[in-house]
Amino acid sequence: MTDDFNTDIYYDDDADVSTLDDATVAVLGYGSQGHAHAQNLDDSGVDVIVGLRENSSSRSAAEADGLTVATPAEAAARAEVVSVLVPDTVQPAVYEQIEPELEAGNTLQFAHGFNIHFNQIQPPENVDVTMIAPKSPGHLVRRNYENGEGTPGLLAVYQDYTGNATERALAYGKGIGCTRAGVVETTFREETETDIFGEQAVLCGGIAQLIKTGYETLVDAGYSPEMAYFECMNEMKLIVDLMYEGGLGAMWDSVSDTAEYGGLTRGDDVIDDHVRENMEEVLDQVQNGEFATEWISENQANRPVYTQLNQAEKDHEIEEVGERLRELFAWAEEEETEDEEESAKVQADD
Ligand code: NAD
Ligand code: MG
Repeated sequence: MTDDFNTDIYYDDDADVSTLDDATVAVLGYGSQGHAHAQNLDDSGVDVIVGLRENSSSRSAAEADGLTVATPAEAAARAEVVSVLVPDTVQPAVYEQIEPELEAGNTLQFAHGFNIHFNQIQPPENVDVTMIAPKSPGHLVRRNYENGEGTPGLLAVYQDYTGNATERALAYGKGIGCTRAGVVETTFREETETDIFGEQAVLCGGIAQLIKTGYETLVDAGYSPEMAYFECMNEMKLIVDLMYEGGLGAMWDSVSDTAEYGGLTRGDDVIDDHVRENMEEVLDQVQNGEFATEWISENQANRPVYTQLNQAEKDHEIEEVGERLRELFAWAEEEETEDEEESAKVQADD
């Protein structure tokens, strides 16, 4: 554990997978997170059983990966730790099936806090309720583990009936490889609210709208859609890669002085105080539950708004332009990969 940060960060030395020696872990769902958690735990020597519906198309995949599969209720009945990794919108219904199987001292384990924080799942008092949330899509959780690397994650304890909730959650976190990279302690509330705010205001909603608005501004002013695509969408990756590797500083250092001066003087004209107020409003709706209530009833009504917006996004001109251009430039990326492989081979031969 280190005290260099405002919160505790746990590493491999702080966790012991053998804490789960006497336990069976039921992994419910075999999607992005589920397949990675189940296989990593299995490879870490933990007894794993995957819980899937009788007619689930994931059953054959889990079985092909050498795992035991049962229904969610059967899996929960045989397990001491139940990891809920079906989609968030489906979790309350699946929870109803497994609730009768929970015994005193069992652990309900999550990878996101939505249903607990917004009371869509209300567990009995005599179980531990924990979260190990990898901060990455599942395929990377699996790939990193296989490469001997870790995936950073979050730890939270909502309910500690046994007094060992943290220890057991950390054992789970070690079993999926998260403590190799570091596990940051947080709360269900903080994880849920920051996660949802982040994806709405910055990561998914904010960035998509920024890209589309920039693209439309250029195209409406008469510039070619191809140029607008490259400027506003394609280069985004290069810029974000620099920030990911070395923060904003690495990005400002790498771009031209003209880009740096222009960006520093004009950036806050674009993302101005008005946008900050909008973000505060978005955060309010996350905190006061307005967003959660809306999303729950949207699902109950079979997603009318979601379906319409999902289609409108697909129909945006930038998607058609992008598809065409990515096709045209695919040879460049392939050649680059071949070059890298070639030079790797040369180095290996040396
Ligand atoms: P997913 O959509 O990839 O997979 C869900 C799986 O659940 C499906 O593959 C299927 O096996 C099963 N499933 C689907 N519908 C079902 C139903 N009606 N009944 C029973 N089983 C059903 O889900 P995911 O993205 O892995 O998300 C799982 C959890 O992990 C969520 O709480 C999510 O917030 C969290 N999480 C996801 C990510 C991510 O990048 N995907 C990252 C961190 C945390
Ligand atoms: Mg997220």
